[in-house]
Amino acid sequence: MSATIIDGKEVAVRVRADVARDVASFRERTGRAPGLATILVGDDPASAVYVANKRKACAQAGIVDFHQHLPAGATQDQVAAVIEDCNGNPEVSGILLQLPVPEGLNGKELTALIEANKDVDGLTQVSAGRLMQGAPGLRPCTPLGVIELLDSYSVALEGAEAVVVGRSDLVGKPVAFLLLHRNATVTMCHSRTRDLPGVCSRADVLIAAIGRAEMIGPDFVKPGAAVIDVGINRTDDGLKGDVQFAAVAEKAGFITPVPGGVGPMTIAMLMRNTVTAAQLAVGLE
Ligand code: NDP
Repeated sequence: MSATIIDGKEVAVRVRADVARDVASFRERTGRAPGLATILVGDDPASAVYVANKRKACAQAGIVDFHQHLPAGATQDQVAAVIEDCNGNPEVSGILLQLPVPEGLNGKELTALIEANKDVDGLTQVSAGRLMQGAPGLRPCTPLGVIELLDSYSVALEGAEAVVVGRSDLVGKPVAFLLLHRNATVTMCHSRTRDLPGVCSRADVLIAAIGRAEMIGPDFVKPGAAVIDVGINRTDDGLKGDVQFAAVAEKAGFITPVPGGVGPMTIAMLMRNTVTAAQLAVGLE
């Protein structure tokens, strides 16, 4: 069998076009566009690139840019004051604190200050609680992107055996809850799981969010399964996912490449979350 390649770039382009349309209709109805405040502290080059890409994509969709750049020496109180300012500004629909913050600052405490209805990264404890209970709220972007990819290729989730490898607050846990709310039967695996290949090979839907280059081989995969590779690993041979792409593609029904699979979805879903936050704030959703 040769798997259908799930094209994240194509899906992301469609989501971004949808977002641009939603931004335009929000502006027509309210007289203003949704706004995103990205908060970058310090000069970490990778973080600067991530934030620049997010701002550019949002600007292309017509989302207003409320970017704030603070120096590496900013204090916890100074960053907190910027977040509080954004919380109180009705023009700011969404707030994103780029992590990690420089040493000496507490990123968790700062993230916790973000008003849950503006938490477009979905990383506050309030957002996590809403997700767990299936209450309306903003969900983390990469997990939302995983579900969007599965839906775009009509992969059945209801009643499916879904196995998530990785249990981080950023990816593994939220993706597991999203799958559970779609009525999949979800198993979460981690570094202490016994017989990982045995558990994974039961999966109709297998999500790898581990951070170990090419750990998932064909012996982990049920024939015909949908395999979503969240991993991004920089190796001497270039960027690799957590899945052995070529070998697993021979056995799976669907597979995401790295790069070009989940990666492009994260920013697309951030943009969608920003519009959702704006709509919720004025009771439009
Ligand atoms: P974390 O390091 O926070 O979590 C990794 C998880 O994998 C942990 O739960 C860990 O288990 C588990 N794990 C590690 N080794 C093994 C093993 N040998 N067997 C089974 N489970 C194992 O990573 P993140 O969740 O933040 O990210 C995961 C990957 O996704 C990374 O490659 C990251 O770069 C990528 N990523 C990609 C994004 C995108 O936009 N495409 C966005 C975010 C992340 P335990 O809990 O027991 O330690």
